[in-house]
Amino acid sequence: MTAPLGRAPLSTGELTDEQYGQVIRPDDDEYETARTVYPGAVDRRPAVILRPGNATQVAQGLALARETGLELAVRSGGHSWHGVCEGGIVLDLSRMRAIEIDAEARTAWAEPGITAGEFTDAAGEHGLATGFGDGRLVGVGGIALGGGIGFLSRKHGMTIDSLLAAEIVTADGELLSVDEHSHPDLFWAIRGGGGNFGVVTRFKFRLHELDGVYGGIMVLPVDPGILEAFIAEAEAAPEELSTIVNVWTAPPFPFVPEEHHGKPIILAVLCYAGPADEGEKVVDRFRAIATPLADMVQAMPYAGMFPPGDPLEHPLTIERNMFIDRVDRAAAETILEHITASGAMIAGAQLRVLGGALARVPSDATAFAHRQSKIMALLSAVYGDKAEADVHATWIDGFRAALKQSDSGIYAGFVATADQQEIREALYPGDTGARLAQIKAKYDPENLFRSNHNILPATS
Ligand SMILES: Cc1cc2nc3c(=O)[nH]c(=O)nc-3n(C[C@H](O)[C@H](O)[C@H](O)COP(=O)(O)OP(=O)(O)OC[C@H]3O[C@@H](n4cnc5c(N)ncnc54)[C@H](O)[C@@H]3O)c2cc1C
Repeated sequence: MTAPLGRAPLSTGELTDEQYGQVIRPDDDEYETARTVYPGAVDRRPAVILRPGNATQVAQGLALARETGLELAVRSGGHSWHGVCEGGIVLDLSRMRAIEIDAEARTAWAEPGITAGEFTDAAGEHGLATGFGDGRLVGVGGIALGGGIGFLSRKHGMTIDSLLAAEIVTADGELLSVDEHSHPDLFWAIRGGGGNFGVVTRFKFRLHELDGVYGGIMVLPVDPGILEAFIAEAEAAPEELSTIVNVWTAPPFPFVPEEHHGKPIILAVLCYAGPADEGEKVVDRFRAIATPLADMVQAMPYAGMFPPGDPLEHPLTIERNMFIDRVDRAAAETILEHITASGAMIAGAQLRVLGGALARVPSDATAFAHRQSKIMALLSAVYGDKAEADVHATWIDGFRAALKQSDSGIYAGFVATADQQEIREALYPGDTGARLAQIKAKYDPENLFRSNHNILPATS
């Protein structure tokens, strides 16, 4: 491997565990597993993987990246497309997974490598919760920096709305404590701006009281009228209810009747964060839309909302997300036509009705600019053979174009890769992008953190 001019070449044999935490080289047994990330299409071979155990070792890893000039990728839970780089250095924070809960103050300090599921289990023991997404194995590091839209978004806002403070190692190796008062610009930027500004080694979250939820999976047959009515009900529901509505060609799940396998269905996940009897009344309105094919919505501990997750799952998927204004009859027909036309193993649109607490935060209060967006749509195809990728890419681009309404925003957390135009115009539009570029120029002028949805440092 050739180092860029004027930079020291990387000699991985000289790197010690004492300096960097665990050092994993290409000839180590663990290397293949350690370089694997959730998306099955990502297949990159870094020169070395460093697993620091503390902020000092994180700073050492950053110094190594600066000295060698090699590309740097940072990962926590490894669920994005950016957690590994070709030929460079991976800073893998998965060993840093401590959590300290102050039940009285209702706060938690958590290291970035802890998963959303582990955090939820630990907080749940105290009848408390912070909202992340819908995935148990997603890393707190990535979701807390990208935004975090999940089961509690309408009731308690996004994950970033519960972020109170953080400790972050910046590109020059300095450890900063950031919150509303200390480095407020950086604290603003990391709430939605992703891993562009440094490596967060600890997050402080607000915990919300949550003894249990009325929630779970409901499967319904689907036609345009049912879909339109389902979304209308989700919009009209009290903000205690957050819904994730998957319109899918049904996977062969045991709870889906066999005659529906491979055909479009609604597989909705509903979460009512309030008393079960009130939740039941709200959910009954969805049950009245059509007779459910399966109904597992019930009173349960909040942690029960998260399916176990399989660490060995690395699906081949193509995804595009977008915000839409409404699911009227025309949009419902568009969704069903495209899903039916796809030849993918599973084709779908996931619809998340936003609003509630998420929308009450001013659009300029954090680096997530899409507070007024109404519905997030995540279009996806899951397929079995890499050679099919182009076919599904064409399908998904056509689907997105057909579904597009007035909202041109995109949620960074669900984006695989984005070009600079998309980053500036759709992920971080307008003033949000301009402000992020200024903050990037202040804290990472040489763009050390660029294996991400990269915000370029402002030049003036
Ligand atoms: C199955 C699945 C379900 C999902 N569900 C949801 C959902 O319901 N809601 C939602 O909002 N999102 C969801 N997402 C998207 C998810 O939030 C992002 O992919 C997120 O980045 C994953 O975090 P991670 O730590 O696992 O990923 P990683 O790949 O480890 O990290 C993602 C990126 O974040 C940055 N980063 C991570 N940790 C740090 C750190 N400590 N310091 C600095 N930078 C860091 C790096 O740039 C890194 O490349 C889901 C993704 C998957 C695959």
